[in-house]
Amino acid sequence: MHRIAIVGGGTGGTVLANRLANELKTEIEAGEVEVRLITADPEHVYKPTFLYVPFGKKTVDDASRPIEELVDRRVTLEIGEVTGVDTDRKQLSFPDGSTLEYDQFVLATGANLEPEVIPGLAEGGHHFYGPDGAERLRDELAEFTEGHIVLSVIGVPHMCPAAPVEFTLMVDDWLRERGRREDVDVTYTYPINRAHGLESIAEWATALFEERDVTLETFFNVDEIDPDAGIVETVEGIELEYDLLVAIPPHRGSDLVTDAGLGEDGWVDVDRHTLEATVAEDVYAIGDVADVPTSKAGSVAHYEAGVVADRIASRARGQTPTATYDGKTVCFLEAGMDEATFIEFEYGEEPYVREPSKPLHWAKLGYNESYWLTARGLL
Ligand SMILES: Cc1cc2nc3c(=O)[nH]c(=O)nc-3n(C[C@H](O)[C@H](O)[C@H](O)COP(=O)(O)OP(=O)(O)OC[C@H]3O[C@@H](n4cnc5c(N)ncnc54)[C@H](O)[C@@H]3O)c2cc1C
Repeated sequence: MHRIAIVGGGTGGTVLANRLANELKTEIEAGEVEVRLITADPEHVYKPTFLYVPFGKKTVDDASRPIEELVDRRVTLEIGEVTGVDTDRKQLSFPDGSTLEYDQFVLATGANLEPEVIPGLAEGGHHFYGPDGAERLRDELAEFTEGHIVLSVIGVPHMCPAAPVEFTLMVDDWLRERGRREDVDVTYTYPINRAHGLESIAEWATALFEERDVTLETFFNVDEIDPDAGIVETVEGIELEYDLLVAIPPHRGSDLVTDAGLGEDGWVDVDRHTLEATVAEDVYAIGDVADVPTSKAGSVAHYEAGVVADRIASRARGQTPTATYDGKTVCFLEAGMDEATFIEFEYGEEPYVREPSKPLHWAKLGYNESYWLTARGLL
């Protein structure tokens, strides 16, 4: 029996498990291969939904479905947390001390929010990167009629690099729709010398911010927050007053990765094309936990899952794997409440940012609905 273990049933792990169930259908049914998906949460969460929760366009419940409804019946699904990886013994361990042997293993554990590393952030900042944060922000925004909203990207890398720009353009439009924009100042801050890591998106966002009276602060590296005074202090010595702070918290990968010596800060050091760990055999990483030079995005996790499914299936059959990942990334970006743009790029390419339009906004909303089919591996 060839044992394939996937840890993490988010976008990457679920697509991968379903692709493998399809590619290795015959071998699984003959009892020659097992595909096991181990995941901590019985609910599968589609995080892009959280962008819409602060504006009342979606609820937190819209973001999740039971994972067992999404996974092919040929996959052995196990709800539980993996607490250790021994890549020499090819063994995973669990909180009760039990272990599981594997022949090929994939880490798909995503990214974690780490607000506690910035003093005052947990008390003074809001965000829309998780269910509780998105609901609290919705309640704050509903009551917010005047003052200063600061959207601050605190650390990179973070999930969906475009989402903070999208939120800023959406909040501007949302306040205008409600006749409140004249009484609200909006500021967007970013740690480097431009508004976004990718130059073409930075230029596009900067032009829109100017048009919509959004103040842009660059080289803005947050050091601490004073929640009582309502002040963000930066390493560069700036003090910025806020009435509502929306801050993208620093992210980290998984302790499993650091403890197993697979990479730094919890991100797995992988070959960017094969997605195989550089320091251990038969170990792969996909999605946010993989340290590759592109966005931490669901589309990346999805494309990587396809490549890793092909490579694993080849190895399970004793063949040489040939599939490789070229960095393909696609993303719809909201430019307000009813217009969006779309970008696509590969490793080393600068994306072309299309003129925002209503059809692209509808396409983004349509994609969000069809996600539940893509997670099943159907699209
Ligand atoms: C607000 C927001 C908007 C976004 N918008 C977009 C967008 O428009 N387009 C886009 O492409 N991407 C977007 N993203 C990013 C996208 O959601 C992530 O990149 C994607 O979810 C990554 O998938 P993943 O499989 O790596 O991790 P996740 O989907 O985060 O899944 C990780 C899974 O691993 C499980 N897990 C973790 N540790 C363990 C363990 N030790 N044992 C067992 N299970 C474990 C978790 O419970 C979870 O189920 C957005 C993200 C946010 C927060």
